[in-house]
Amino acid sequence: MTRQDGLGETLRRHLSGGGRSFSFEFFPPKDDAGEATLWQAIRRLEPFAPLFVSVTYGAGGSTQDRTTRITRQIAEVTTLDPMAHLTCVGASVAELRHVVGGYADAGVRTVMALRGDPPGGPGRPWTPHPEGLDHAIDLVRLVRETSSFSIGVAAFPDGHPESPDLEHDARILAMKADAGADFAVTQFFFEAGSYFRLVDRLSALGCDIPVLPGIMPVTNIKQIQRFAELSGVPLPPADVARLEAVSDDPDAVRRVGVELASELCATLLEGGAPGLHFYTLNRSTSTLEVFANLGVGAAH
Ligand code: FAD
Repeated sequence: MTRQDGLGETLRRHLSGGGRSFSFEFFPPKDDAGEATLWQAIRRLEPFAPLFVSVTYGAGGSTQDRTTRITRQIAEVTTLDPMAHLTCVGASVAELRHVVGGYADAGVRTVMALRGDPPGGPGRPWTPHPEGLDHAIDLVRLVRETSSFSIGVAAFPDGHPESPDLEHDARILAMKADAGADFAVTQFFFEAGSYFRLVDRLSALGCDIPVLPGIMPVTNIKQIQRFAELSGVPLPPADVARLEAVSDDPDAVRRVGVELASELCATLLEGGAPGLHFYTLNRSTSTLEVFANLGVGAAH
């Protein structure tokens, strides 16, 4: 892979040659200590030659400068291909164009085009900026019209909390693919069946966009319960029981989290998923242990 290739094109070529796409997601840290932790994770994961790494965008664009700085640094000082996330929250079309231009200047060539959660968090009513965009698909169109970026979009195996049903979600994702999205990355989920059913629904709509499953190895029971509740993602009772059986031992909780993620990843890959996207929370240990369990080795 070279940086000159668009990620969308690279991904298609890689998958059609029988390859699988591994990728890692990071968030822009708030302080120097967080930044040191992030770079340690990046350096430990880099030898696994992910197809890309992504950097999230804070609620309401609150991390815009940090997202740009971190993605620029990743492009400059590592061998990794960074994707910068972008949301429509609180931004006019002119501001969104400006951020995309800033990403281009920073050497970023791939954007994750998202609507973003309503200010105040998931579950609150969504109100677009008066001169902004209403949905992620509008941002896909804007990025497609104004740049040659590759574009990723979000997918929701268990449904987006605001969607009336799963069919609606699949139709929206197929529309985003038609509008120019190159690939999708899913919300985290815990049941492989949810992912495969989403891919089947897309296929029934004639949509074959690569959908990369998002994996979040559990490291802390309370944290994952909070994330799952906010995102409307069901935690299977059998998984909860395995985690709760060791709840008084944080190391054992993390170990069980790695076991559960490894089992999910193995089922996904065996069932034909095109790869895995890890929500690292800026740590590398759990992801590396899942890779070891799957027999995925360092590339260099
Ligand atoms: P949309 O595609 O706009 O969908 C939002 C809702 O509107 C859905 O219910 C959808 O079905 C519906 N909808 C969409 N288009 C239409 C239409 N044309 N007509 C009718 N209904 C429609 N948030 C951040 O703030 N920063 C991040 O960095 C970030 N990264 C993420 C990464 C991934 C992989 C995922 C899965 C989510 C991420 N999010 C992030 C959260 C995301 O912004 C929220 O889940 C948000 O509520 C939905 O974003 P979306 O891009 O799917 O929006």
